[in-house]
Amino acid sequence: MKKNDILIIHGTDYKEMTRKLLEKAGLADMIGRKDAKVAMKPNLVTSNPPSAGATTHTELLAGTIEYLREHGFENICIMEGSWVGCGTSSAFKIAGYDRLCEKYHVPFIDLQKDTYRKYDAAGMKLAVCDQAMAVDFMINMPVLKGHCQTTVTCALKNNKGVIPNSEKRRFHTMGLHDPIAHLNTVVRNDFILVDNICGDLDFEEGGNPVVMNRILGLCDPVLCDAYVCESMGHEVDDVPYIRIAEKLGVGSADTSKANLIQLNAPEEGAGAKFKMTGRVKELAAFTQPDDACSACYGSLIHALSRLKEAGMLRKGKTPIAIGQGWQGKEGTIGVGRCTSCFAKNLGGCPPTAAKMLAFLEENW
Ligand code: SF4
Repeated sequence: MKKNDILIIHGTDYKEMTRKLLEKAGLADMIGRKDAKVAMKPNLVTSNPPSAGATTHTELLAGTIEYLREHGFENICIMEGSWVGCGTSSAFKIAGYDRLCEKYHVPFIDLQKDTYRKYDAAGMKLAVCDQAMAVDFMINMPVLKGHCQTTVTCALKNNKGVIPNSEKRRFHTMGLHDPIAHLNTVVRNDFILVDNICGDLDFEEGGNPVVMNRILGLCDPVLCDAYVCESMGHEVDDVPYIRIAEKLGVGSADTSKANLIQLNAPEEGAGAKFKMTGRVKELAAFTQPDDACSACYGSLIHALSRLKEAGMLRKGKTPIAIGQGWQGKEGTIGVGRCTSCFAKNLGGCPPTAAKMLAFLEENW
């Protein structure tokens, strides 16, 4: 797998999707030595089930463990330290990690209880947990979601989980962006497996999940977060830590050079049928879905969220048509190739939220 590749798989069998994506990525070859110590670092920021849009689905870890074992890797563990104010052990149980670890006999390391040392992170002294620095290969497993302070959160910020609580507090006094970027010059990001199943619209702790039913695989955490911006209709420059990390040599934020590899086609239906809550429901009132694929529908919700922030959502607007049920039919305005017969249409399958946003700003 090349540094600019972005693997994308759609569906609802998350464990199987994970296994297929890791096969395609050639993860075993990337790890190399069979006795390598391999760690999975999910997002267990708070005590919420993955369906709330905050924490990594256990199926991604189950699929990874099965893949690793099939390829002869046995020295596997899961590690995480929740945010200040939430004990990792509570998040661990509520997200179902207790059952996962028992089933697969994989140890869980609570980094809130770990010792730590200070490192020179490109000119900034930062403390990092010892166990996180002792692994040979780190699989970063963030949730793609919004964040009230940093706009988005994914690979780069997920690594805040490998620092002690005292350092997490200090990060906030330092404005978050600089320390997050500098942290990623010293911690490992050997492979990034992104949970893009139902990350939250705009809050790290979940509550308004946007179903997209996708898993992504990348090697570059900066490219990952830049792509996340596009997926949610933001500009990369809206998230300062991405540019800072790029300048520090962590990776590239140039998504125009990314090589998108879709392992399958999006699945129809799930996006429209999912039970929506709060702000997502409000945004959905501006849509007219008919068998919409999750990734397409989720992108539209993110684009509408950006329009709402800009004060451009008003009652009485023509709903935006989306979904396979519109194929061959005529109408006023629609997104995705399924609405290509509409008077105003944005092609793509699925188009990104960034493209939807630009299209709606001009045509709606
Ligand atoms: S354009 Fe149609 S087929 Fe393609 S992702 Fe959107 S709804 Fe699905």
